[in-house]
Amino acid sequence: MTAAVRRTCPTCGQSVDRAQAGKLWPFCGERCWAIDFGKWLDEEYRIGDPSAEAVISPSGEERD
Ligand SMILES: [Zn+2]
Repeated sequence: MTAAVRRTCPTCGQSVDRAQAGKLWPFCGERCWAIDFGKWLDEEYRIGDPSAEAVISPSGEERD
């Protein structure tokens, strides 16, 4: 068994369980993660918008 690992969320300061937060750890959740990320990326990267990557392959050219 792995012992519970807890750290303090850099954004809101609450104690966060590693196993519970998963990849977002040490952040407590996606919101706090995005808030901290936005600081460095100057809000150019929009969280939660998967369509932004789909623009690369337009499906309007399927002619023979
Ligand atoms: Zn937080």
